[in-house]
Amino acid sequence: MPTASDPRPEPSGVPRRRPRWASAWWLILLFALVWAWQELGPAASVRALSYSEFKAHVAAGEITELTLGAEELRGKVALKEPPADGPQEFAFRAARVDDPKLVEALEAHGVDFIGEPPALFGRVLLVWLLPLALVFGLWTLLSRRMGAAAGQALSFGKSKAKMVAATESGVTFADVAGCEEAKQELMEVVDFLKNPARYRALGAKIPKGILLVGPPGTGKTLLARAVAGEAQVPFFSLSGSDFVEMFVGVGAARVRDLFEQAVQSAPCIIFIDELDAVGRQRGVQMGAVNDEREQTLNQLLVEMDGFAANSGVILLSATNRPDVLDRALLRPGRFDRQVVLDAPDMEGRLAILRVHTQGKPLAEGADLAEIARRTPGFAGADLANAMNEAALLAARRGRAAITQLDLEDAVEKVIAGPERKSRRLREQDRRRIAYHEVGHALVARSCDGADPVRKVSIIPRGQAALGYTLQIPAEDQLILTRGALIDRLKGLMGGRAAEQLVFGEASSGAENDLERATALARQMVAVLGMSERLGLARCGQRDGGQYLGGLGVPLQRDCSEQTAREIDEEVRGLLDRAYQDALAALRAQRSTLDRVAAALLERETLDEHELDQLVAAEATPHAPA
Ligand code: ADP
Ligand code: MG
Ligand code: ZN
Repeated sequence: MPTASDPRPEPSGVPRRRPRWASAWWLILLFALVWAWQELGPAASVRALSYSEFKAHVAAGEITELTLGAEELRGKVALKEPPADGPQEFAFRAARVDDPKLVEALEAHGVDFIGEPPALFGRVLLVWLLPLALVFGLWTLLSRRMGAAAGQALSFGKSKAKMVAATESGVTFADVAGCEEAKQELMEVVDFLKNPARYRALGAKIPKGILLVGPPGTGKTLLARAVAGEAQVPFFSLSGSDFVEMFVGVGAARVRDLFEQAVQSAPCIIFIDELDAVGRQRGVQMGAVNDEREQTLNQLLVEMDGFAANSGVILLSATNRPDVLDRALLRPGRFDRQVVLDAPDMEGRLAILRVHTQGKPLAEGADLAEIARRTPGFAGADLANAMNEAALLAARRGRAAITQLDLEDAVEKVIAGPERKSRRLREQDRRRIAYHEVGHALVARSCDGADPVRKVSIIPRGQAALGYTLQIPAEDQLILTRGALIDRLKGLMGGRAAEQLVFGEASSGAENDLERATALARQMVAVLGMSERLGLARCGQRDGGQYLGGLGVPLQRDCSEQTAREIDEEVRGLLDRAYQDALAALRAQRSTLDRVAAALLERETLDEHELDQLVAAEATPHAPA
């Protein structure tokens, strides 16, 4: 037992186990004593007789006392002819034998006898010890549970940070491709941790906090893990949601604990992934969750001020919602440096593809540069996924190396979902779908600003698409002009226009096109200032912020009723005009529409070159009508 001078007293409040077990031992000892007293005490002076000896004493009429136990006979014998060296009287015991004539014989010789219930110890055991043991067992069980729960409650505040050793992460800067600037920034940090003297000599202050921002899948977490792999200092890694707990105050305690640990093991890096889970703007919502988050955030702010610059603790964080972060977090002295990881450009994609085809044999003619060209807007994670799909496809096709075709099919699968060739369609539906897709393709081809059509297909894909037209820009586009957006609207309307033109009736197949077109038109009017009537005012908020919301996301209204109505009218106007233009474009090339649709019905997919040939065929006099 710990004494007062015990150098490491157990934390108060944690229930001690030892006393409880001690009391159990006392209990057992007590029972053992009782048993010994009952059973062994008298046994010392008792002579053990065999049954036949006992019967002989009965026959001689020498038994003066007899107790018939269930298993044992006990009593006293008074010898009629005592031996010279022995007592005349003695107590005895003998094992009972199944002898139906015993009672008869006893009565015949006039022996007094009493019966006896089962042994006292057995009774004690049954009546007392068993229930006691049960109660005791139950109590132990329950209190141990409660003890565990209490222990948990006490360790709630303990930070859940995982320490990642330098060798454990296994990721180095070489595994991160296509974001050279970001890598550069972080290398500087790693360098500081390795040679702090050089920076201090120049009076340089290394940033305390570095925030990695960028769309999902661009390698923020990966880059942080690379830092862990390169820095060779302790690396505490945890996610923002680890702070958020059911109980108010736990998150704050965890933050405190985390920083305590970190300061002790400086130089080190703390990495908080998905910072927006704790770092959201304060005072926006109501309720307990918010309370908890605010406390956690406040604690984080306090702790970030608490350690001195150049103390060797660097806080690294990642988020794809910098727009919702509390402004106090972003001010200089806290996360004073932001490192942006954007969707990679062509070169970046090529570099990432190279990283992710390491260890995957590529067949001759597999052209990663071409794949990089075809994948604008792909983040690192998409590219990694596509390369893995390519390897799986190649394996399924029984190849020894990955061919260009596998690569291209894999990219398509990532864009549009897996093919579902088994889906049976009625012939008239296939015809309608073929015209619909060719409508998209031809309208897009007739607009200068639309993205080039790479492929048209009527093989069902993914969850909903019955056919699709793949349009990929020739190069990365960071800015889109109004003309390009209008051309995009026309392309989206091409499917519906073709159906109308050929079948004279609309179908439900254009829902997705209309949804996308409407969202795009609304963006143009409400946030991009592309409508003359509404002018330059921004009348909506993109849901999901800078990185999660592209041009296709719905808007949150941020304007008067009047303006909202005008926006609706403008949107309708834009869509109507786009639709009329698409119709006109298709009318002008009706025969091409029929020809390409027929070819598509036959071959199911047409690539860029086949489309070119089919469209150009019109010029030649012998073209099939
Ligand atoms: P996030 O930015 O959402 O945290 P991750 O870092 O988790 O993205 O990236 C997911 C995966 O995508 C990584 O494990 C890696 O395989 C791949 N990846 C993303 N970006 C890159 C990159 N720049 N270089 C190499 N692989 C990348
Ligand atoms: Mg991440
Ligand atoms: Zn369509």
